[in-house]
Amino acid sequence: MRTFQWSAHFETGLTVIDGQHQELVGLINRLGHSFLVGDASDERALRAVFDELAAYAELHFTYEESLMYDAELAPAYIERHHEVHAAFGEQLAVLWESRNTMENPGEILLGFLVAWLGFHILREDQAMARQMAAIRAGASPEAALASAHEQRGPQDRTAALVDALQGLYQTLSLTNRELTSANRQLEERVAERTRSLAEANDALRAAYRQMEDLARVDGLLSIANRRHFDERFEQEWRRAQRERTPLSLLMIDVDHFKLYNDAYGHQAGDDCLRAVTACVGAGRRPADLLARYGGEELVMMLPNTPSAGALVVAREVCASVERAALSHRTSPVAAYVTVSVGVATRTPHACGESSLLIADADAALYAAKDRGRARAVAAGDD
Ligand code: GH3
Ligand code: MG
Ligand code: MG
Repeated sequence: MRTFQWSAHFETGLTVIDGQHQELVGLINRLGHSFLVGDASDERALRAVFDELAAYAELHFTYEESLMYDAELAPAYIERHHEVHAAFGEQLAVLWESRNTMENPGEILLGFLVAWLGFHILREDQAMARQMAAIRAGASPEAALASAHEQRGPQDRTAALVDALQGLYQTLSLTNRELTSANRQLEERVAERTRSLAEANDALRAAYRQMEDLARVDGLLSIANRRHFDERFEQEWRRAQRERTPLSLLMIDVDHFKLYNDAYGHQAGDDCLRAVTACVGAGRRPADLLARYGGEELVMMLPNTPSAGALVVAREVCASVERAALSHRTSPVAAYVTVSVGVATRTPHACGESSLLIADADAALYAAKDRGRARAVAAGDD
């Protein structure tokens, strides 16, 4: 690949100078090849080409300056041209030293080299050649210098651009080191901020999820609360409507619980409620939902369960509480804590209200209490 496209526009008409310029272009292209195509991490190979280029540029500048001296160009012009040469060496050295702090050192270095040499030949070296020709034709150095600027012709149009770009490259090379390190610090700060922001977000989301979970759980019994039950019940009701499947509800109420509290104290009443909840919840299907409906009343939702199945579950609920044999010495029903269960099942029609099923279950519970408690009673399936 070639980085610098040599063309006749760059010729000065001075054979040796043009040959040296082409030699420099060849070295720039070799450096470009090492950076862009070769192994850029091969420091020794890169440095060898770079050193060769820097040394050759130095040699060429010395030759050019002695040529200007021999041709007796205006001393002020020779001095200015020399300063431009010297600045090149400084800029190149700064770029080379700070290349490891750059993201794309190859592009920056080659950009600088191509632009600098191109502009320098078009601007300074061709003006130099014109002055030499004028002096050979008999002009004084000062007149030659003046005419060299007058004769610039087509380059005049680009002169301002050339000046601007040279200024740009000078600024770039001098501030590059600070710029790259400042950029990197900024990137690190931004990355750090982004990281801690993401962490804070995660913590916030986790806290929010926890809060949401808490808002769905009953503090005393550690099962779903009424709010969660209401949400899930509405969802399951609509699903049962869509899929035309039976949905069953069990309303479970501790018998004579007021008497229990009176006999054992409210604290023991709480423990008793937890024990009853554990019995009722044991061994349920994952799709079933046990929730605290209020006070000492629990509700169990059984999706896709017909009335016969729901009644079996309700009887098992009664039996499991009785098996726990939690003493209830003041109960008129039994020596142990018992529960009454109202069972209701509906396969909802498209326009059916979910509250109908609740009302059925409530009525069935009432019937269970009425018939002596410690039993399960089913409401009529529709
Ligand atoms: P029934 O067999 O007709 O249901 O009689 P009951 O005494 O259980 O019914 P009632 O509704 O009259 O009384 C319920 C009692 O449950 C009254 C209330 O103090 C008690 N209770 C409700 N929630 C809690 C609770 O969280 N902890 C305790 N310890 N008691 C509760
Ligand atoms: Mg009760
Ligand atoms: Mg009650």
